[in-house]
Amino acid sequence: MDSEEDMHDANDVESVDDDFYSGETEDTPMDYSCSEYDNNDELEYDEEEEEEDDDDDDDANFDFVEDDADDSIDFESRRAEQNFTILKEIDIQQRQEDDITRVSAVLSISRVASSILLRHFNWSVSKVHDAWFADEDRVRKTVGLLEEPVVKFPNARELTCGICFETFPRDSIKSAACGHPFCTTCWEGYIRTSINDGPGCLMLRCPDPSCGAAIGQDMINSLASDEDKEKYSRYLLRSYIEDSKKTKWCPAPGCEHAVNFEAGNGNYDVTCLCSYGFCWNCTEEAHRPVDCGTVAKWILKNSAESENMNW
Ligand SMILES: [Zn+2]
Ligand SMILES: [Zn+2]
Ligand SMILES: [Zn+2]
Ligand SMILES: [Zn+2]
Repeated sequence: MDSEEDMHDANDVESVDDDFYSGETEDTPMDYSCSEYDNNDELEYDEEEEEEDDDDDDDANFDFVEDDADDSIDFESRRAEQNFTILKEIDIQQRQEDDITRVSAVLSISRVASSILLRHFNWSVSKVHDAWFADEDRVRKTVGLLEEPVVKFPNARELTCGICFETFPRDSIKSAACGHPFCTTCWEGYIRTSINDGPGCLMLRCPDPSCGAAIGQDMINSLASDEDKEKYSRYLLRSYIEDSKKTKWCPAPGCEHAVNFEAGNGNYDVTCLCSYGFCWNCTEEAHRPVDCGTVAKWILKNSAESENMNW
């Protein structure tokens, strides 16, 4: 295993708190403890106490009560739901949509612009809000969200493509918010190449080398092939999990669920809907109460020992 990367992850987890609950439940205290829910005896206690639970603490009030435990896997996942949530693809899409909608509403910008911003700030709604309200101009410049074109051709009937230098009727030319003119064929080639180069296409900029205008999903959708649009959407979905500090894919082979980890109370054991139990911090198999560092050393030792089988 790659212990360096794991140590990196272990360090990363320290910063989970800072953008955690990205705006959704800013008034939610994190003072509830997992251990209260750790055994079945206490589930009954919870049912009795349910009425008295804080109403403003939605996450802690997860629904044991209406859960008949007829589906044991589902029940298991609910039991520990206070510090992690398993996300199926449809949940991931929904959350991503919700975050895009929220930022778009709060900043009064388009959903395409909101998506570009969120991607830039690793899908942290609170970081987008903080940065934007601290210095909107700076954020716009960094991310490439222009308020008005940098070049204008108010009366031109024909325009010259900045890539192939051929002249086209104006309606055969497309531009991002910056106004730099390129013909459809050149745009298509530019976008196809970028999407097929990998997830960097999510941060695509105007082809003009002097320009940093962001190319959003609206341009992609109007200029990419169906297959490439699909690839772009997959990258966008993956980015939501892989670039956010609060989420990871379940490491079980073939499992496509993700885990959203919500609280830093020291218990990193999570159980996926696929039933695989793992440590969210180091993504090794669940190892509570042994700490991640010790597990990493054990794994290193074991692999070293199995390499030189001379004992
Ligand atoms: Zn061209
Ligand atoms: Zn441009
Ligand atoms: Zn899984
Ligand atoms: Zn661990």
